[in-house]
Amino acid sequence: MLPDCTPRFVASDNTSGICPEALEYLLEANRCDDLAYGNDIWTDKAAERFREMFDFDCEVFFVFNGTAANSLALAAMGRSYHSVICHELAHIETDECGGPEFFSNGAKLLTSSGAEGKLTPEGIEALVTRRSDIHYPKPRVVSLTQATEVGTLYSREELLAIRTMADKHDLRLHMDGARFANACVALGATPAELTWQVGVDALCFSGTKNGLAMGEAILFFNRDLAEDFAWRCKQAGQLASKMRFIAAPWLGLLESGAWRTNAEHANAMARYLADGLADMPGVESMFPTQANSVFVRLPPHAIDRLRGLGWTFYTFIGAGGARFVCAWNTTTELLDTLMADIRESLVA
Ligand SMILES: *Cc1c(COP(=O)(O)O)cnc(C)c1O
Repeated sequence: MLPDCTPRFVASDNTSGICPEALEYLLEANRCDDLAYGNDIWTDKAAERFREMFDFDCEVFFVFNGTAANSLALAAMGRSYHSVICHELAHIETDECGGPEFFSNGAKLLTSSGAEGKLTPEGIEALVTRRSDIHYPKPRVVSLTQATEVGTLYSREELLAIRTMADKHDLRLHMDGARFANACVALGATPAELTWQVGVDALCFSGTKNGLAMGEAILFFNRDLAEDFAWRCKQAGQLASKMRFIAAPWLGLLESGAWRTNAEHANAMARYLADGLADMPGVESMFPTQANSVFVRLPPHAIDRLRGLGWTFYTFIGAGGARFVCAWNTTTELLDTLMADIRESLVA
């Protein structure tokens, strides 16, 4: 059983705290003053470390959150009269308050459906070829989420097929990597294999959901797209004057390998939960558990009871659908308690 003070938070991987490796580097960066606006040694080292890790001489920027990372990256990838193709469940479509449209001065998102939260080459082509006249916002970017909003993964083959379609129609490829680390470890792939090697032009890599207090990295593999990007970040209020306190914890994740072990742990916890729920009568799996989230359908009374017991979780996926997300510090004790409560809440 959990002590009463333990919060029953399984809504997202952003309810977790700062992981020790990130905190250690934060404290280290605080021992000595340094230059502002990213001219410090930490920012330099973290950017260099990203280039090593991706085995690519990419342009690296840091911003506060994922909405800013996605919005600003997408704004840099097209013009105001262009459109961005994304899945109908994409965070940029459903959860960014029009940020991508706002920062691109009007670029429109065109949505496609697709099983398991994933775009398909056919779905992309259908949106591109639907119209070609002057009255339709010209498709210019495809945005993929890896892992997806429903906790599934694009395989390398799927990514390559999308890249081939993107080439056919001269589209750029953006990746929302809010859970990119989870995708890398789940697929047993290197960061390079899931990005520039399959033609991703820009990646928004979340540190927040991996174990930082805050901070996302934007990596441009297509370096031309990064032209003047620093000014775009500044204008958007995303240039941290004490940038080192975002960069140093990032360096902590990268140098220690915690980016990987945190994701491995979160994925393993999601697997533990999914396995535990698999043969519980009254619980129906909604999507395969491939990364660190578990989606199940529960009867309404069970959802109400769980909420009454203090569990926080989202039900955005439609009637009866509950999402449980695991993080770097999720424990089996928490999940055992959750499963016991789910079992009890199912009793009519
Ligand atoms: C959490 C998340 C983001 C970033 O959200 P912020 O709250 O703006 O940091 C972006 N994309 C996906 C898929 C997410 O889950």
